[in-house]
Formats: sequence, structure tokens, C-alpha cells
Amino acid sequence: MTPEQLLHESDLCVKCGLCLPHCPTYRITQDEGDSPRGRIALIQALLCGQLQSTPRLHAHLNRCLGCRACERACPSAVQYGRLIDGVRAIRSRQRPAARQWLYRKALGLLTSPRLLSIGARLLRLLPRHGSATAPFLHMQRLIGLCPNFSRPIRWQTAYPPAGKHAGRVALFLGCISRFSDQAALLSARRLLNRLGWEVIVPPKQVCCGALFQHAGEPATAQKLNAQNQAAFGAQPFEAILTIASGCGAHIKEHGALPAPIVDISSFLKQHSWPESIALEPLPQTVAVHAPCSLQTADAVYPLLNRIPEIELIPLADNALCCGAGGINLITEPEMADALLTPKLASLQRCRATILLTSNTSCALHFAAGIRSTGLEIEVLHPIQLLERQLRP
Ligand code: SF4
Ligand code: SF4
Repeated sequence: MTPEQLLHESDLCVKCGLCLPHCPTYRITQDEGDSPRGRIALIQALLCGQLQSTPRLHAHLNRCLGCRACERACPSAVQYGRLIDGVRAIRSRQRPAARQWLYRKALGLLTSPRLLSIGARLLRLLPRHGSATAPFLHMQRLIGLCPNFSRPIRWQTAYPPAGKHAGRVALFLGCISRFSDQAALLSARRLLNRLGWEVIVPPKQVCCGALFQHAGEPATAQKLNAQNQAAFGAQPFEAILTIASGCGAHIKEHGALPAPIVDISSFLKQHSWPESIALEPLPQTVAVHAPCSLQTADAVYPLLNRIPEIELIPLADNALCCGAGGINLITEPEMADALLTPKLASLQRCRATILLTSNTSCALHFAAGIRSTGLEIEVLHPIQLLERQLRP
């Protein structure tokens, strides 16, 4: 969006403040600058030249998680997500060339499983308190979130179905989820095959681009989309399935692929299952987290209710972001942890033994929080649980 378009969009905000109670960062700091209304006012003042581009101003904008709870609450239909992405893109263009280059390289590192895994191994060789620079601290935080950094497995390009052929789908692997959510991806592939779906895994697929879009680098996001268009364009598919709701939401809104991108739970709910498929009972309490990018997660409940004796409980305050939005999980650790704390308390209160979530960064954030508090709760993707309960 051009500065003029951004100003036009921000002018739709009537400053009513109805979005404020829905904003997770405002709830924590109670600072107007950390609210949607305050951020819109800052964006307007910045674009009109009434305020300088200072670190303090950008700290307020950077703390925004991009959860878009404000958009859902706004009676004036302000497209807040486009505003914050747009102003970050303007800021990115204004950086000196060397800093912009570094910034892009850092984002590229975050979305490259191969480079991340090499970086993580190198970082472990450095003294624990060797450096307090931001990139070092961010990398350390990332490693804390993914303690079991492993090499991504080699995927075959095609997996034939078991039994009667239901159709052909493609599996979207994502960038970080390719290694942090490997178990969920493997479960998805096995479950789809058991249900009769042929699964294609195009080898040249890349990151969806969401991280770049929300970090002010829309041109890179578009480039990645073009690479994915070519990677998924070689064969016809009924759908391209994703296990990470953040990737799915981004591609639906900003990208275009040769087949519809569909959340795997929605897909499995829409299609009938062979009668021969039976699931083992699970007499346990299972909490269900709804990621911001999948707030209408109704597909998960009917799907999981196929498991006999399961007790499903929506996690309290599911409409509030867990703190893992965008890259804030790494760059704003204090805010991310402050938002997670009440969710961990809710989890403990409901005595769940398993927490299900359909988004990669939320899963990493919850799992790290659960590890650090010593809770014995497993964090799984809904598809992992379904596949685990399949009778042989
Ligand atoms: S973003 Fe929407 S809800 Fe929030 S202050 Fe502006 S008009 Fe009101
Ligand atoms: S996107 Fe989320 S964190 Fe950002 S202003 Fe809106 S509600 Fe607040």
C-alpha cells in the first residue's frame, strides 16, 4: 500500500476504542501506544510528518502481534492488518542499504531450515553469555523454542494411498514447521494415505512468505509465492493442505496457488472417511487452542469427536493471542511470555493432559512454556492425535 492508501485506510478509524479490550498488548501494558487505536494514531502522525520516526514510536508498532483481534472487533471495518504491514514496509524501504541487507538476511535465516540448523549448531559452540547483541539473543531464544533442532527429513515426491483411491492432494511443508513440526507432517501424510488420499510433496516448495509480509518485506513474500506457484503447478491436486494455520491464512489472503490451500482439519472434516477406519478410545481431557489465524476452528471439534471417550475443552480466552504472533515470539520475548502465562494457568486448571494447536509458532511457544513450568502436558497438532488413535 502507498502512504496515501495507508492514510485513507487509517482515516476510517473513528477512534471509538471498541477494539482496545480485545488487544492483547494493550491488556498487558495499558498504554494507548500499545493499542490498535493508539497505533493507528501513530501511523497517521508518522505519515503526515507530525511525528518523527523514533525508536520509541517503532517500539509501539513492533510490539503489535498482528493477531488482528482488533479487526474482528472493529465496527468500522478498519483493515488494521494491512495498515501495520504497510507501515512496516515503508520503514523497511527507509533503512540504510546495509541495514536493510542484514535485516533481509536475518529473515531469510529464520525461514531456512538448513541455515537455522547450521546456525543452531554453531551457536552452541559459543560461550553461553558470549554476546548480548540482538541477533545473538534472538537466535538463543529460537534455540530455546526448538531444543531438538534436527535436520529436515527427505520427503518422497509421492505417497500412494492405502486401499481405495479417494483423490490426490499436495502437502505444504512450510519453512520452520518442516523441521519443528516434522512429526505432525508425517502424521498428516500417514493419515491421508490411510483415508485413501495420494499425497504429493513437491520438492521445490518454499516458505509461504507470511513472515516476510508481516516484517515489511512484501516483495520477498511475492517472490516466494511465485516459486510455490511453479512448485505446485506441475500436477493437478484437489487441494494443497497445510498443517500451519498461519501459512494457510497468509496464502489465502496474499498469495495464489494452482489449487485451493486448505487447513488439513477442514479438509478431513469435509470428506467422508472409509467405513473400515476405527479410532481407539481416549478417556482424557484434551484442551484445544484456537490460533489467531484459525479463529473459526470448528472443524477441529467434529473431527476429534470421532475419538471415543475424548473430552474436548476449548482453552480459556482463546480469542486472545498466546504471544506467538509474527516474529514477536523471538523479538519480543517478555511480551510473548506475559501473554502465555495466563494460558498456562488455564491449562493447569482444566487438568488437560494434551493441548492441541494448529499453528507452528503457537505450538513452539506453548511447548517451551510447558517445559519451563514443569507441567506434564503434551502439545500436539490435532492431526497427530487422530493418527495416533487409528486402529491398525
Ligand atoms: S480501529 Fe475500529 S474499533 Fe478501534 S478505535 Fe478505530 S474504529 Fe474503533
Ligand atoms: S493486531 Fe493484535 S496486537 Fe496488534 S493492535 Fe490489533 S489486537 Fe493489538
